[in-house]
Amino acid sequence: MRFPLIIILTAGLFLVFSCKKNRSSQPGKGVSYALNEQRKKTIDSIHYAIELDIPSGKNERINGKELLSFQLNSLDSSLVLDFSTDSSHVTSVQAKGKYIPFAFVNQHIVIEPSSLVKGYNEISIEFIAGDLSLNRNEEYLYTLFVPDRASTCFPLFDQPNLKATYALTLKTPENWEAVSNGSLKSKKSEKGRNIYQFQKTKPISSYLFAFAAGQFFKAVKTVGGREMTMYYRETDTVKVKQNRDEVFSLHTKALSWLESYTSVSYPFDKFDFVLIPSFQYGGMEHPGSVFYNESSLFLDENASVNKKLSRASVIAHESAHMWFGDLVTMDWFNDVWLKEVFANFMAAKIVHPSFPEINHRLRFLLAHYPAAYEVDRSAGTNPVLQELGNLKNAGTLYGAIIYMKAPVVMHHLELKIGEKLMQESLQEYLKTFSYSNARWDDLIGIIDKRTPQDISQWSSVWVKTPGMPTYDFVRKNGKMQISQQKDSVADRIWQQPLAIKWQNDKSYHDTAFTITDRQVKAFTVTPGTLTFPNYDGVSYGYFKMDSASKADFITHYNNAADTVRTNPVFRGAMLVNIWESFIHEDGPAPEKFVNDVFATLPKEENPLLVDYMLSNLQTVWWTFLEQEKRSFLQEKAEKALWGLLEKTKDKGIKTSYFRAFKNIALTPDGLQKLESLWNDRLVVKDLVLSEDDKISLAYELALKGNGDNKLIFDKQLENTKNPDRKAKLKFVIPALSKNVTERNAFFESLKKPENREKEAWVLEALSYLHHPMRAESAIPYLRPSLNMLQEIQLTGDIFFPTRWMHTTFAGHHSAEAAGIVRDFLRDNPVYPYYLRNKVLQATDLLDRAVRFERDEGFQK
Ligand SMILES: [Zn+2]
Repeated sequence: MRFPLIIILTAGLFLVFSCKKNRSSQPGKGVSYALNEQRKKTIDSIHYAIELDIPSGKNERINGKELLSFQLNSLDSSLVLDFSTDSSHVTSVQAKGKYIPFAFVNQHIVIEPSSLVKGYNEISIEFIAGDLSLNRNEEYLYTLFVPDRASTCFPLFDQPNLKATYALTLKTPENWEAVSNGSLKSKKSEKGRNIYQFQKTKPISSYLFAFAAGQFFKAVKTVGGREMTMYYRETDTVKVKQNRDEVFSLHTKALSWLESYTSVSYPFDKFDFVLIPSFQYGGMEHPGSVFYNESSLFLDENASVNKKLSRASVIAHESAHMWFGDLVTMDWFNDVWLKEVFANFMAAKIVHPSFPEINHRLRFLLAHYPAAYEVDRSAGTNPVLQELGNLKNAGTLYGAIIYMKAPVVMHHLELKIGEKLMQESLQEYLKTFSYSNARWDDLIGIIDKRTPQDISQWSSVWVKTPGMPTYDFVRKNGKMQISQQKDSVADRIWQQPLAIKWQNDKSYHDTAFTITDRQVKAFTVTPGTLTFPNYDGVSYGYFKMDSASKADFITHYNNAADTVRTNPVFRGAMLVNIWESFIHEDGPAPEKFVNDVFATLPKEENPLLVDYMLSNLQTVWWTFLEQEKRSFLQEKAEKALWGLLEKTKDKGIKTSYFRAFKNIALTPDGLQKLESLWNDRLVVKDLVLSEDDKISLAYELALKGNGDNKLIFDKQLENTKNPDRKAKLKFVIPALSKNVTERNAFFESLKKPENREKEAWVLEALSYLHHPMRAESAIPYLRPSLNMLQEIQLTGDIFFPTRWMHTTFAGHHSAEAAGIVRDFLRDNPVYPYYLRNKVLQATDLLDRAVRFERDEGFQK
């Protein structure tokens, strides 16, 4: 097979010739598992010295130079560097001061062995940096290279198991700050430019290499002997002042805790963090230079306890990654869940001491189980450990199974082997694989040799197969027979603990055991015995409660005279059971569900439970409740929420009620309240509205009111002081237009990748474009949105495909919308497996809503 290649002999001189090489030896796009293995075997001791010249204009090109050095132990095959741009981005390639020939094949620079030596090699490359993952703005830029995006910027071996040291030099406009993984070695000013030189890093994986540069404010603080610098853009100095010390202190606490738990000192040279407006994730764990979404760290004055917990958790999560992920890294991205589960697992342990007033068992339950079930009960679910043939698909591995289910699995593992053995195993794991890579099975191996239990068998079900178990509780001949329903994998037993509370007359008794059989167990029960399965919220699955027990739980909700019912974990676990029951159409019907929520909310003062109930209420309200019934309940719902808002003394809960009210309000009186809150004519004691709240009020008024949108938005733009929020508001406004032609034009504009760059903005706009009240007019966007998914996977960040799908379909519950999805999947029989799953996950509630409506009889 012959095919033309462009060979560059000297800078500027291009020569096209034919190569006799077999095509199969040429790399395809991305990094295949085979290329990953071949490079891992032959390349070692990698160092990159990189220099980037960043101009002031965000569209001007960034020139780069790189000196790459490494040890090569074989000359059997060509050297393949990843550079996901096009050949025009490569200016020259040299070895030992001489230009050498290279080919540019499928976004790789390919160098023949004749230009290399066995042993130490140095290659210098001049290039134009690719923009795709540089997030360039007028006043700043930042990298986001996870999972395989470093190669979109500069040439390298872009795979996690080829750790390298990096020495970065950045030339920036004069008034720009710069931060990277390494400490600052020197800063010089030259001809109106800044030159930042950073120290060589410790060995890190390519997805962890990072820098940010631009107009940032800086705060430096030394806490507990550790100096940290925070870079941020927030202009509200009061807000900064309110948050600054707490943000530093949370980091210090997290790092100290981790040093003590792991018995490994902080493994990198320095610790800084950068707060970025509309950052794609909550945070990203670049060693020495963690990036955060500014709004997850700088909280509003009225932040709920949930928000404060989330902030502490994201800080603890990213800090934990310094050990779990950064010091010891997965060998291949299919094990990406492992670093995420450790980070979550550690974060849960770390935030406990900082929030003694919080019920952490309840928090763990509500933060993980419902979100994991949402995916695990869908037809598009996946196992925790997935297969990955090429790194270019690594982004599709991320989702609730990794972030929410895996921590539950890890918690089960810790229950199984005990905290001490867990900690010892993790310490050995970190020690053995420091500055290197490891797989899940490496950890299982370490644990297995310390315990007589069969951990591998357990792991093969929980980690390597998808889905969740369903348990039936059937009363027959004076016995309660508990059995595991047949599921998608034959003969699979989900080994796990199960605790049941029985209530007979007024007395309770408990049963706790480990499930080891499909016919779980049978218990003798007297008539009228109530059953509360999984009352401690530890077990994972759908536990089918009988109607009498469900009804009794609602009737005697949080009964002050009953210490079982006053236990918030008990209430949380039963609410989760009931939600699963609702979703599986085992009752209650939507209208009853809404009425139950309004019966129980006044008896609930736990902010986590209030938030959980309100979130379910809003889902049922917009997705499952028929229009007619919604109208019937409208006034009652608004009155109830407003009454609760006024009555509660807890500021966080007040905000939760405000947000739910804002979401549901539709009557003239409700809209009047929103407007009066928005223009400060109505002030509710202890309800503090942030700029973001005001903006969202403006959105709701534009969406639901009869007023002139232009007047609303002109005023809101005038009142919005923060430039980043102002820019976002301007972006979202057309999605809220009352004119469908303008909305269509906005949707059309999203077809251009450059208009999707600010992903958080796009998602906010989509949530209004597809709002349930606009769902009918948004139907024409559904098929094109599905058609765009593959391109979005290529151009967007890792979470974007999932979020694009979810936000698009969240507002839809019509048979027509479900039909569009079905047709799309039918028309694309060979659609990529991971993306098909994302579609099925995002449309699971839609399918269920359609089924609810069809199963009319059930609703009565
Ligand atoms: Zn993480």
